[in-house]
Formats: sequence, structure tokens, C-alpha cells
Amino acid sequence: MNKRLAIGIDIGGTNVRVALVTDKGVIIKKLKENASENAIDLALKLAEDLLNEEVAGIGLAVAGVIDRKSGKVLVSPNIPSVEGVSLVNIFIERYHLPVFIENDANAAAYGEKWLGIGKEFSNFVLFTLGTGIGGGIVYEKRLLNVSAEIGHMTIHANGERCQCGNSGCLEAYASARALLSKVISALEEGRESLLRGLFNGNFYKLTAEDIYKTALDGDILAREMLKEAGKNLGIGIANMINMMSPEAIILTGGLIGAWDIYIQEAIKEAGKRTFKNLFNKVNIIPSLLGDDAGVFGSAGLVFENMENRRISV
Ligand SMILES: [Zn+2]
Repeated sequence: MNKRLAIGIDIGGTNVRVALVTDKGVIIKKLKENASENAIDLALKLAEDLLNEEVAGIGLAVAGVIDRKSGKVLVSPNIPSVEGVSLVNIFIERYHLPVFIENDANAAAYGEKWLGIGKEFSNFVLFTLGTGIGGGIVYEKRLLNVSAEIGHMTIHANGERCQCGNSGCLEAYASARALLSKVISALEEGRESLLRGLFNGNFYKLTAEDIYKTALDGDILAREMLKEAGKNLGIGIANMINMMSPEAIILTGGLIGAWDIYIQEAIKEAGKRTFKNLFNKVNIIPSLLGDDAGVFGSAGLVFENMENRRISV
């Protein structure tokens, strides 16, 4: 029997998402749960709910540095419970099916290439803009088998300390975590802002969305901080444009909700720092699949890997 379904699993710092996907890219069923407890047990449980005899394999997308050969997650600052664990072996032992693993941003890039806005381009770079910043690179219609940790490119010498241990990383300036930390420091120093009126003045409860909404109300501090984060993102985008000459920069993740200030500023900055001919041909655009890109991508990689295996045998 030609098995035409795959289970895509996206294990993130906040949620575990799973989806049963056909080889034509249609989601039959999807589930999402908060990963407050053990993310691995939760992923196994959710996968079990989708399993049937037509499933050809399982694709895992995990935030972190992955060793595809051993199936291990080497480093994952946002999901410590998966660090050093051979997730692939755990899933193979449980389900006796082929299992593949990929970094979550790489899987999202594959998802966009297969079914999203990336279908229209041969070469693009995807940025995931959330708590941290991740990336995936599609070159000549293929997902590059590289780490693509674009959030950890150095954009300031002797800059801010980053979660990864380096300093001056893009993520330390342009992520939601960085934005919040800068805003909180400014409020601690006594800066005036409408943000003080939220949560009865407990500004440690603020989210990136609160900052964007307050910026739209004309708040000077919120606007200044979003623009500063956007400007830094623009430096990272410019570096990728100058390096890869992509047809598109595809942006995804929670922070793209702040498009009109944060992303517009990034586009302006990228325009100043790139070669004109490269900037003129690049499309800087939002993703089409949004939060589903990871489950689509990890399921799609099951079909692609199984196809390649067949060819190589
Ligand atoms: Zn870093």
C-alpha cells in the first residue's frame, strides 16, 4: 500500500503542535497543547492521537541545534528538557516508523517552500521573529542542510550578552525577549510611558503585543524601542541580502504583528545597507502559513526524505 500521510510535530518553547498531513499538503487533523510539562511526553501523546495505518513516517521540528545523523538535539536554550536527547530514537522505539528531525525554523522554511509563499521563489531566507530569532535558507528550491542560526550573527562588536553565550547577536537586539528587556530597563530607570498604566503599573507583565499597541497610541518610548529593534533587525536582513542575494526575505513569528513600525523600520535600514541591485530585486514579505509552517514542513520532510531514500537504494 502506498502510504500517503505523515505526522508533523513542532516542539516549541511554549507549545507542542502536531498535524496529520497528506502528501499533497492537506491537514487532516491538527492539535496544539501548551508544553508546560514534559514536551517529549506531550509530543508522544499527541502523535498517538493522530496515528493510523496510512502514516508513512513522523517529522519532528525542534527549536535548537540538531544533529540529523544521530537524531539528537544538541543545544536548545528554550526547551532544556530535550537537550542531549535522541528524540528520533524515542519516536522510532515507540512507533516503529521512519522518523526525521529538523530545526524548527528550517522546517518552517521547508513548509513555506512546499505550500506557502516560498513556492514562488527559488531562493529565499526565512526569519522567525519571536522570543528568539531563527532562520532557514532555501537555495535553488532546496532547503539548505545548514544550521542557519541567523539570530546569532554578530551585529555589534562588544554588544549585549546573548542567551547563546556570545555577545552582540542579532537576537540580543531584535527579538521579543530583547525588546521587552530594553523596555523594562527604561521603565525601571523612570522613563515616562503609557505602558505604566497597564497591569496596575507592574511592567514586568508586559508583552511585545502591549508595546506595539501602546506605540500605535502614540507612546514615545514604545515607538522608540520598536524602531530600535527594527533597525537592528534591518542590519541582520541586510547581511543576508548581501550574502545570499535572495529573491525574498520571508518573515514569520509573533513580532510580525508589529509590521507597521518594527518591520517597516527594518526594511528602511536594510535598504541603506545593501547593494542597490540586490535590494531592488528582493521581496520582504510575511509568511503565508504562519504558525502551521513547522508542522507542514516537518511532515513534508518525511515525504522528501523517503523519496530520496528510494532513489539512493
Ligand atoms: Zn547569540
